[in-house]
Amino acid sequence: MDTIITNIKGIYPFKAGSQGALRGEEMRNVKPIENGFISIADGKILGLGNMSEMNLSELPRDTEIVDARGQFALPCFVDSHTHVVFAEPRHTEFVDRIKGLTYEEIAKRGGGILNSAKKLQAASEDQLYIDAMQRLEELMRLGTGAIEVKSGYGLTVESELKMLRVIKRLKEDSPMVIKSTFLGAHALPPEYKDNRKGYIDLIINEMLPVIKEEGLADYIDAFCEDGYFTPEETELLIKEGAKSGLKAKVHVNQFNSIGGVKTCVDNKAVSVDHLEVLTDQDLELLKSGNTMPVALPSCSFFLSIPYTPARKIIDSGLPLTLATDYNPGSTPSGNMQFVTSLASIKMKMLPEEAFAASTINGAFAMEVENEVGSIEPGKRANIMLTQPMDSLDYFPYNFGNTNLDKVFINGALIA
Ligand SMILES: [Zn+2]
Repeated sequence: MDTIITNIKGIYPFKAGSQGALRGEEMRNVKPIENGFISIADGKILGLGNMSEMNLSELPRDTEIVDARGQFALPCFVDSHTHVVFAEPRHTEFVDRIKGLTYEEIAKRGGGILNSAKKLQAASEDQLYIDAMQRLEELMRLGTGAIEVKSGYGLTVESELKMLRVIKRLKEDSPMVIKSTFLGAHALPPEYKDNRKGYIDLIINEMLPVIKEEGLADYIDAFCEDGYFTPEETELLIKEGAKSGLKAKVHVNQFNSIGGVKTCVDNKAVSVDHLEVLTDQDLELLKSGNTMPVALPSCSFFLSIPYTPARKIIDSGLPLTLATDYNPGSTPSGNMQFVTSLASIKMKMLPEEAFAASTINGAFAMEVENEVGSIEPGKRANIMLTQPMDSLDYFPYNFGNTNLDKVFINGALIA
């Protein structure tokens, strides 16, 4: 059924900027359409504007009218970095950390990513699919309309492919826009502890050909970090991924700046994600290239590590994207509403900047900007209606509470 949302206090369309993603001052110079309407037909946005321009007589008879008095309309969140397919949560390690162990110490004694890998290897494809789909349904109710999902808890040929096949099924069955990223280089499996090259060869010779043949991924990723994969190994994987038609989105600079940003910018990666540690040289490199910086503040919150220096990035004229990093180890939450609050509270991002980074810029970070990320005619009708509030500033301020009244995905009311 077609829908028209009327009397909206303010519509924030978050359209792209002149050079694509919103960057620098553009991120905060967004003006709402006051007292507006949005019309929806066939799951897409048909039109929007001021109430004075609305003509109800032009609409089909059975059009549903939703009155949004006092409410703001925003594009649904685009979460461009998640690990939402996983076997089990890791709250035992959570308690270990409360008792004083660090993330790295937990990883060294068989916890961390390797723990998730062991659990995932034992799980069935169907169970992984059912659990992940349930998580996606919860995320839609929280306002997320598009999401990127990574493999990386398989770490064997069979289990990495199993994860990617789960993501492929989610893509086919979920109303969300989904992109799939192959993260075989998430951690070195224990059996390859003394044979790094052997594992990288396995990725290149055994995993990538099947991924290409079955169309299982859109991107390639690596955890470029001390104790995981070097910039040289990352570069090799980016180049081999490119041969299989995969662009790069890479985990860099979470704990250390070891040259990953340069590798990614030089190799035209779509995004560099994490950046909790960012040197001046890294910043210059980002300015020289076209790679999107992505910050994951819930991960900083959960691990008590530094936050990505958002002000430094935005004030130097760059774009910035926010995503959740939803995963069982370092971010057991896919709540983008909380991410906008953390961005404002901990990273000093203005509310408009936080939403620009969570919507249209997220769409650019996963190359779905023609479909989602803004409220514009022709795009999917992925729209959030806030609770009644006097200003959008209230949304990130009201942290930990529900800020949404309704969520439309492809024009259908899902919450
Ligand atoms: Zn991640």
